[in-house]
Amino acid sequence: MKKNKKASPKNQTNLRFPSSVLAPVGKFLSARLHILKKRKKEIEKEDPFKNADRIIDNASPDTEAAEQFGHARTSAIRQQLQKNIIQTKKALTRIRIGKYGICEDCGQLIDTDRLIVYPETTLCAKDAAKREGK
Ligand SMILES: [Zn+2]
Repeated sequence: MKKNKKASPKNQTNLRFPSSVLAPVGKFLSARLHILKKRKKEIEKEDPFKNADRIIDNASPDTEAAEQFGHARTSAIRQQLQKNIIQTKKALTRIRIGKYGICEDCGQLIDTDRLIVYPETTLCAKDAAKREGK
């Protein structure tokens, strides 16, 4: 039996995307999450600081610089991947709770144009810009 939640808080939009739209978006996001996690594992292996074969004792300054650079590069990518993973998980959660496409901050519907470009977004363009600018 389905439970019908009648009470919906005021100021909240009842507009929702139909499941015919959400199902493929959910599928897409799940697939993306999988890829992102894989990429993260791969990039962690590329980090010279985590490489077991690393020559610690007699590394030349050149090698050391290359390692530093490699580490900075991989950790920047890893951080970006981690951010995307969190965001994608968030979007998937919002699909599950029926709030996909609704801005987290203002509760308005997010432009479909924006959702097509950033299906993992949980903020409207205005609020995303606000958060970026802080
Ligand atoms: Zn908003």
